[in-house]
Amino acid sequence: MFVGVLPAALGVAPGLAQPGETVPAAAPVTEGLGAAPLTLTAMRSFSGPENTRIVFEFSRAAIFVSADSGETRELVISLPGEATARAEGVAQVLRVRDGVVDSVEAETRVDGASFRLWFPVTTRFHVSTLPAQEHQPFRLVIGVARPGAEHAVARRLEGIAQGKRRDRVRVVAVDAGHGGVDMGAKGPRKLKVVEKTVTLAVARALVEELNKIPGVRGELTRDGDYFIPLRDRYQMAEKMKADLFVSIHANSTRRRASGRGTEVFFLSLRGAGDQADADLADLENAADLVGGVPPEAENDLVSILYDVKRTSALEQSQLLAETLLDHVAADRRLESRGVKQAGFVVLKSVEFPSVLVETAFINNPVEARLLMSKEFQKKMARQLAAGVRRYFERTRAELPETNGPGSQ
Ligand SMILES: [Zn+2]
Repeated sequence: MFVGVLPAALGVAPGLAQPGETVPAAAPVTEGLGAAPLTLTAMRSFSGPENTRIVFEFSRAAIFVSADSGETRELVISLPGEATARAEGVAQVLRVRDGVVDSVEAETRVDGASFRLWFPVTTRFHVSTLPAQEHQPFRLVIGVARPGAEHAVARRLEGIAQGKRRDRVRVVAVDAGHGGVDMGAKGPRKLKVVEKTVTLAVARALVEELNKIPGVRGELTRDGDYFIPLRDRYQMAEKMKADLFVSIHANSTRRRASGRGTEVFFLSLRGAGDQADADLADLENAADLVGGVPPEAENDLVSILYDVKRTSALEQSQLLAETLLDHVAADRRLESRGVKQAGFVVLKSVEFPSVLVETAFINNPVEARLLMSKEFQKKMARQLAAGVRRYFERTRAELPETNGPGSQ
C-alpha cells in the first residue's frame, strides 16, 4: 500500500475518480490549525449488488491522506493537523455488515482525524472526493467491491435473457433514476423527500403491473438505494435482451416551485429543442458527476447498420413516448407537458426503444405529496403499464394468450 495525497492521484481509480480533477477550494493542511474546525456532518453507506459505497460528508473541502486504491482488509484515511469535529447526531462508528464492509469508524480530534474501515475479507477499494454542489456538501467517497459480484450480476442478466427466450416473453427494463450517493432532485424541505426514493417506488410498482400483462416481464436495473452510472443502466438492459427501456424520474424547476405535470422524453441526436429541456438533460446527465464517473468520449461509431438501427430505435421510441403519455394524461390530476426530445445519456442504446418519464415535479409541494403517496405511485405504474401494453399492440407484437412459463 502506498500513501499519497488524494487529489494528485485521483485519475488512477477507475469508475470513481475524474481524471485530472482537482478539488476546488481545498484547504491546505498547514492552514487548517486555528481555522474553523472541519465538521463531519454525515457518515452513510450504500450497499449495491456490485459494491458498497461509504460516504463521509463535510462542512467544507479538505485534503485527505490515503492510498487511492488497492486491496486490503483495513483501510485508514487520515487528515492530519486540522481541527476536526463530528456534528451532533453523527455516531463515531457505523456498522455496515453487508458482507462487503464490516464497520467504519470516524475518530475526530483537535489535531486531525482518522477514518478507519474494516472489511470481512481482503477487498478492492478506491477512494475519491466529490466537490460540493448545489444540494450536496463536499464528500469523501470510498467504493468497496463486493467480492465475486461482477459474475453474479452478469449471471442475473444472462438468466433474464434466457428466461425471455424460454418463456417467449417481452422484457421491459425499468430504470429507477438516481440512487445511492446521487439523490436526484430534492422535494420541498419540510417533506424530506428526494427523487431517488420516489423513482424506485414507482419503478417497483411498474414492474409489478407489467408482470400482470400476459407475455410481458418487467425487470429493474436498480433494486435498492445504490448508484449505477448512466451507461451501465442501458448496458444492463442490453444484456437482459430487453425489448423496451423505461427510465423513471421526477422533474424539478431550478428556482420556483411552479413546474407541474408529466413529460416523456426520447433521445435527441442534436440536443434539446429548447433551453429548459437542455437544462433538464444536463441535470439528469449530471448523475454521473455526482457519482464520480469519469466522462467518456462520445462513441463515434460510423456504420450504416448502426445508423439504421438508431433511426428505427428513435422512431419506435417516439411512438412509445406518445403512447405512454396518452395513458398518463388520462389521469386528470397531472397536466400533460407533451413528448419532448433531449440528449439524455441513459437513452443512448440503439438496441431497443428508450424513453425517460418525468412523472411529476418533486419541488412542487402538491406534486411532491402525490409522488410520495402509495396510491399515486400505483396509479402512475398502472397507466404506464397500460401504455406499454398498448405500444406492443400498436407495433403488432404478438403476445401469448396466458402469462407464465410454458405457455404458448
Ligand atoms: Zn432525475
